Amino acid sequence: MRHSSRPELPAIEGGRPVRRALLPYGQQSISNTDIRAVTRILRAERITQGPQVGEFEEQVASYCGARYAVAVSSGTAALHLACLAAGIHAGNEVITSPLSFVASANCVLYCGGRPVFADIEESTGLLDVKEVERRVTPRTVGIIPVHYAGLPCPMKEFAANARRHKLLIIEDAAQALGAAYRTGSGGGAGSGWVKVGGCSHSDMTILSFHPVKSITTGEGGMILTNHAELADRLRRLRTHGIARNSQPRKGSWYFEMLDLGFNYRLTDVQSALGLSQLRRLDRFIERRREIATRYHRALYDLHDWMTLPFWPPTQSIKHAWHLFPVRLNLEKLRVGRAKIFDALVAENIGVNVHHIPIHLHPYYRRTFGYREGDYPVAERFYQRVLTLPLFPRMRQTDVDDVVGAVRKVIAYYAV
Ligand SMILES: *Cc1c(COP(=O)(O)O)cnc(C)c1O
Repeated sequence: MRHSSRPELPAIEGGRPVRRALLPYGQQSISNTDIRAVTRILRAERITQGPQVGEFEEQVASYCGARYAVAVSSGTAALHLACLAAGIHAGNEVITSPLSFVASANCVLYCGGRPVFADIEESTGLLDVKEVERRVTPRTVGIIPVHYAGLPCPMKEFAANARRHKLLIIEDAAQALGAAYRTGSGGGAGSGWVKVGGCSHSDMTILSFHPVKSITTGEGGMILTNHAELADRLRRLRTHGIARNSQPRKGSWYFEMLDLGFNYRLTDVQSALGLSQLRRLDRFIERRREIATRYHRALYDLHDWMTLPFWPPTQSIKHAWHLFPVRLNLEKLRVGRAKIFDALVAENIGVNVHHIPIHLHPYYRRTFGYREGDYPVAERFYQRVLTLPLFPRMRQTDVDDVVGAVRKVIAYYAV
């Protein structure tokens, strides 16, 4: 990097931080309207198992273009029920990405199955379809593609792969509500936009409503599907495996437990918040895209020192920009990723790392014998990645602070 003068001293080396208060990497945006929607339901007759839940399900299904939606208590519960409803059991293998949150693989273990990882594509961080193909065995029953950072996976390719091997697909769209992609090239029929969550190329899609995600209900999640039978099974599993009115002649008090289910219900209070947040979803995504664009413009010239996240062709992919993960070029820096991380935190920029490869967590190493080197692309990605703050409520000055801190720290440690 060229300097007109000596680079400014980072806070970690004794300089002044770019800002006083720590900027988190992600955070909810709660409006007065959201608060009114929630307090209204707190005064209602039913605060759980009432009408808000169904209303929230209908509106998310309609937003995404899916026929059915089942609201649950978290994205993790959604993954668990999706795997159960799919019939995943002992002896089954399900292929997923190592570059994800642990829940993407744990759900398979909950059902007695075995999660199998396939390596990612370095430029996008998404599960590599060719690697998935390589990992298919006679025991493979499904694939869980993860729309990492809010970028949709190439679902048509995954669907073709799944058809070939008779596998089911559960999309982990915990990070990608609001993302979309075009189904064809050029104009004309078959080239329309479809939203992530519409299950155009999958059996089920799961969402998360954790505070850092596209919209929030505090904790919460949802499973979307176009199959009536799967939706029925999911509803039953959400409430203890209980079916009401299965034998109407036995009386209105009568119910039967048909499967071993759970209490994974979302409350009406949470659903009211979700409904209110959903009305703001498109604005949230627009704001995220604006911030991502500013980062791209303001940091692009640092390309020798860090690689900015993949920018998809806007005519065919709409990114949800859940995360802005940059990858450091460690060969061009005097210090490692950990030092850059600490230096940015010292500037009060709350960077993060997404994700520690799942197979390298102690539980996975211990249980399956995974070691470093098993998924080299995901591991290399992890060693270099830093997530910059990105959330709708960030102000222009916050964005400027991040840019200023990144430029200052990179300039100081640049080789
Ligand atoms: C957040 C997340 C989950 C889990 O969602 P929770 O609502 O926190 O249970 C699962 N998968 C991915 C990729 C996520 O980012």
